[in-house]
Amino acid sequence: MIEKRKVVLVGTGFVGMSMAYALLNQGGINELILIDVAKEKAIGEAMDLSDGVPCSPNRMVIRAGDYSDCKDANIVVITAGVAQKPGETRLELLKTNGNIAKEITQNVVKSGFDGIFVVASNPVDILSYIVQKTSGFPSSRVIGSGTVLDTARLRYLLGEYLQVSSKNIHTYIMGEHGDSSFVPWSKAYVGCKPLVKILEEKKKPNSLLEEFSKQVRDEAYEIIERKKSTYYGIGVALAKIIKAILNNEHEILTVSTMLNGEYGKTDIYMGVPAIITNKGVQEILQLELTKEEQQKFDNSYKVLNEMKIEYHFESIE
Ligand code: NAD
Repeated sequence: MIEKRKVVLVGTGFVGMSMAYALLNQGGINELILIDVAKEKAIGEAMDLSDGVPCSPNRMVIRAGDYSDCKDANIVVITAGVAQKPGETRLELLKTNGNIAKEITQNVVKSGFDGIFVVASNPVDILSYIVQKTSGFPSSRVIGSGTVLDTARLRYLLGEYLQVSSKNIHTYIMGEHGDSSFVPWSKAYVGCKPLVKILEEKKKPNSLLEEFSKQVRDEAYEIIERKKSTYYGIGVALAKIIKAILNNEHEILTVSTMLNGEYGKTDIYMGVPAIITNKGVQEILQLELTKEEQQKFDNSYKVLNEMKIEYHFESIE
């Protein structure tokens, strides 16, 4: 590996460090810089993680740093903020995490950073919007983790149910990373065969689809109830987004990205399938949604747009 592959992580909590650990195990980057308001934590995490380098696929420099380290980074990942507490909605997190994201973005941009932002802190769709507006970067270079994790959960669930590798389950969760997300079932395939057709042949009721959706939607709450927060799944999902960028994969992932007329919406970040390259979001995949699916998309937009208004976006200009 000759070229520089430098990632700066801001927020060395559970989510950030799960991503760092996934990157250490998978290899593919050669510099990882950790930034956190809790400076000692960032130093400790860097020391601990560095001990794993001899056993990882490639040499990697891992150290704690500061915002000046962002100047020549390829990617800055934001996982800083306050985690969702039991019973707390993502909306309630908005004010606190919004201001944290804004402050971090200003510091990153001041360094001269000219790469790609990847945002995972919640509510991720709104925070991605805040990062884009604050940075002034083209929206292609500000990517939210969106519904990548939700989609992975659904693919896993369906794969287990049908006893087919989740790699062959082609389906998306779209919209908000949150309660208003939905599955466009008319576009769900197992291999090349429509999922609805498979369930019809197996004489399964249509209500099963709603059960799958509900199960995925409730999973984050259930995990939080049992172990306070979720981090391994999102950690691996973030590593996937980062590698799609650095390897110029042209991979389709349901990231949160700015809509410019796609699905009839503008000036909003939402989870949609998009092609990810080393330049960020290359293109949004426009699916032909059924009338009912488009209504669910519209509903998710409404929820996010209300949150957006609630944050008072004038304050970030
Ligand atoms: P955590 O509390 O373990 O870690 C957050 C870290 O951010 C802490 O180390 C804290 O010191 C740091 N931090 C706070 N303010 C900062 C600032 N101004 N600058 C730098 N660092 C700062 O939380 P976590 O469990 O790692 O969760 C992090 C975020 O990820 C939360 O917002 C959570 O809701 C979100 N999350 C997103 C997804 C997803 O799918 N997008 C999934 C799970 C969690």
